[in-house]
Amino acid sequence: MKLYVDRLKDSPTETVFEESAAWRREAEELLPELRDLRAEPIRVELRAHRMGQNVYIEGALTGALEPECARCLVRYREPLREPFRLVLEPAGPRVPAEPEAARELARHGMCLVDELEMGWFQGHEIDLGSFLREILTLALPLQPLCREDCRGLCPGCGADRNTVPCGCDEQRAKTPFAALEALKVRDTRGES
Ligand SMILES: [Zn+2]
Ligand SMILES: [Zn+2]
Repeated sequence: MKLYVDRLKDSPTETVFEESAAWRREAEELLPELRDLRAEPIRVELRAHRMGQNVYIEGALTGALEPECARCLVRYREPLREPFRLVLEPAGPRVPAEPEAARELARHGMCLVDELEMGWFQGHEIDLGSFLREILTLALPLQPLCREDCRGLCPGCGADRNTVPCGCDEQRAKTPFAALEALKVRDTRGES
């Protein structure tokens, strides 16, 4: 996923990258949960141009994830679209203060200097691979839900409460233990 600085113009040039096996492997090392999300191949659509000495890039990671719902454990499809924007300045003689950033700059021709929107570049080849993996981390759902109001699995009988009304809640309310529970509550209140 490389941009060649010499080929960039003053007006935006459209580029599309398909994920490579190597990029995917490294992404899965960084984000082991990506394997469980059974994601489709990720595409990167971006537009890049030069503005004076700087390089402007904007675009989006697109694709689809197939995560397992955290409540009912059913797999569902979730479209992925994570936009990003990045401004890169020539590093010139500057060296990033962080050793990790300095290594990135030497190895990939770019590093981030301010969160995910500002960075430096060096040389003629900008490898966006690790930057795009960082963007991907923002796109992964922390708690995947097949729908906002998913009712999940019944802790009593394991039924999917979205599809089967299992009746466990009503049963529990009817048992004599429930009546005892209610008495106990009244007792402790009486003591205090
Ligand atoms: Zn669910
Ligand atoms: Zn149940």
